Amino acid sequence: MGLFQLQRSQHPTSDDTRNAALAAPGFGRYYTDHMAVMNYTEGQGWHDPRLIATEAFSLHPAAAVLHYGQEIFEGLKAYRHSDDSIWLFRPERNAHRFVGSADRLQMAPLPPEYFLASVRELVELEQDWVPEGVNEQSLYIRPYMIADEPYLGVREAHNYIYAVIATPAGAYYPEPVKLWVTPNFTRAAPGGTGAAKCGGNYAASLAAANEALEHGCGQVLYLDGAEHKWLEECGTMNFMVVTADGELLTPALGSILDGVTRNSILTLAPEHGLTPVERAISIDELRDGLDSGRIVEAFACGTAAVITPIIGFNAPERGEEVVGDGTPGEKTRALRAHLLDIQYGRAEDRHGWMQRVV
Ligand SMILES: *Cc1c(COP(=O)(O)O)cnc(C)c1O
Repeated sequence: MGLFQLQRSQHPTSDDTRNAALAAPGFGRYYTDHMAVMNYTEGQGWHDPRLIATEAFSLHPAAAVLHYGQEIFEGLKAYRHSDDSIWLFRPERNAHRFVGSADRLQMAPLPPEYFLASVRELVELEQDWVPEGVNEQSLYIRPYMIADEPYLGVREAHNYIYAVIATPAGAYYPEPVKLWVTPNFTRAAPGGTGAAKCGGNYAASLAAANEALEHGCGQVLYLDGAEHKWLEECGTMNFMVVTADGELLTPALGSILDGVTRNSILTLAPEHGLTPVERAISIDELRDGLDSGRIVEAFACGTAAVITPIIGFNAPERGEEVVGDGTPGEKTRALRAHLLDIQYGRAEDRHGWMQRVV
């Protein structure tokens, strides 16, 4: 018996329709028949954990989330192994990060056991929606929380909806990208929301993302908000470089997101002859390192793409700069393959990261 009570959908997707969707799922195009939902009411706490048909919410037009953006989310995946078992990767880190994000936005913290149960029970119920584990396919899981109290005063809401939806994600090989070092935008500042996974950070990032596209770059590399000097991250992915003398260098935590992928890659680094180093890295150190050959590889990392190789940078007053020979680096490719092999059960899980659901 699970924690979440099942109220079955009256209109489940037919096997044929689902199989057609799974043959070419794309990303975010199809959703599982059910979602997990739970409510928070002040005085009562969290209540009514349930698995119900994926359908529209009914929100009062004054619901706080629609006005002041009290929203947080998470992202993780379920992986099908070759023996048809289904696994999650370090979901307890997402559960704890969700508590931290809730705290920053003054939302009701969801106890991690509810977070974990909601994800496990939804994946178990919707196991037929987890694609074959070939070509990096997975079921992408999106837990989130919104403030649904109808109230227009500016204070934290008293009511929240927690929900988990899931969408099959198809074959995904990230294109190597160039990063635009934006002179006009920052994503975080000391004391801001940079370390919280909240929708507002993403809304604020769209202008910089479009600026990057205008300059021929696929992603943004943000500098810090105070001095505009220190590397932060890419806005949906953390940032790392490999040095010629075998360091895996990444900006220290603070106003960046504490990525599960980032943490996992730092942990795997020694197995690839790399020393993980978390510290402040300036844009000048990056530029000098590329010029001198001290920095030989760069990549961005996050759950969706695992690792995206960075093959160059573009910055207004500095122009274009190439990383290494302009193709994905050797350590970048090896770390990516290693993490995927652990997630898909092809490499030994020495750190106890995988949790079986089915
Ligand atoms: C989610 C996210 C990441 C990556 O975190 P993972 O846990 O590795 O998926 C990096 N930066 C930001 C801003 C994010 O929201």
